Amino acid sequence: MDEATIRTWMTETASSIRAERDHLVQLDAAIGDGDHGINMTRGFEAVVLAFSTEDGGSPGQLMTLAGKTLISAVGGASGPLWGSALRRAGRTLGDKPTFEAEQLVVAMEAALAAVQDLGQAKPGDKTMVDALAPAVGALREGVAAGQPLQSAVQAARSAAEEGMRATVPMQARKGRASYLGERSIGHQDPGATSAVLILKALERTLAAGG
Ligand code: ADP
Ligand code: MG
Repeated sequence: MDEATIRTWMTETASSIRAERDHLVQLDAAIGDGDHGINMTRGFEAVVLAFSTEDGGSPGQLMTLAGKTLISAVGGASGPLWGSALRRAGRTLGDKPTFEAEQLVVAMEAALAAVQDLGQAKPGDKTMVDALAPAVGALREGVAAGQPLQSAVQAARSAAEEGMRATVPMQARKGRASYLGERSIGHQDPGATSAVLILKALERTLAAGG
């Protein structure tokens, strides 16, 4: 995997989030303020624009740029959370021109740690962590077991989907949805839903040859 992998991944993410924008807005309207689809679309479109004016760059530099762009382009909670996730993931990839499955695991672990450091959410709090944490676990296990990266990422995406669905009966304990208390129960978390889209975009990127 190389620079093109990151470019394709972020471009795929931007287009699938744009396609799901209204759905993400609806989910956030139910338990938040209805801007999640708008925040994420604006953020990843800004990332694609930032990439278009950046010639070259290592995978790590591009991820770091993506993270910084999200932080500055998005006002909602999701911007700083995903922004610091990608920035910290980028830092682990460094300046090397290519990276392997093991480095992707380290980068994803760093992304999850950044989200949890900043947002203090644990699994079960009904946030993006409920999709990301099982995904990172599945990716780590798949790669450690010597699975081809594509199937490890597929397993990660599937674990994220399961985690996303599991947010429905949860009561929100972090973010705006937590203001609703028990009324947050019965709704799927918007941030967990967009996290699945980001993993699906990675899956498609690798299926297309990375
Ligand atoms: P805002 O809540 O500021 O309107 P968004 O609507 O863009 O921001 O994002 C909401 C999503 O952010 C939630 O669905 C949840 O997944 C995620 N989120 C909110 N607070 C936290 C937190 N402290 N830790 C992890 N994720 C969080
Ligand atoms: Mg919102």
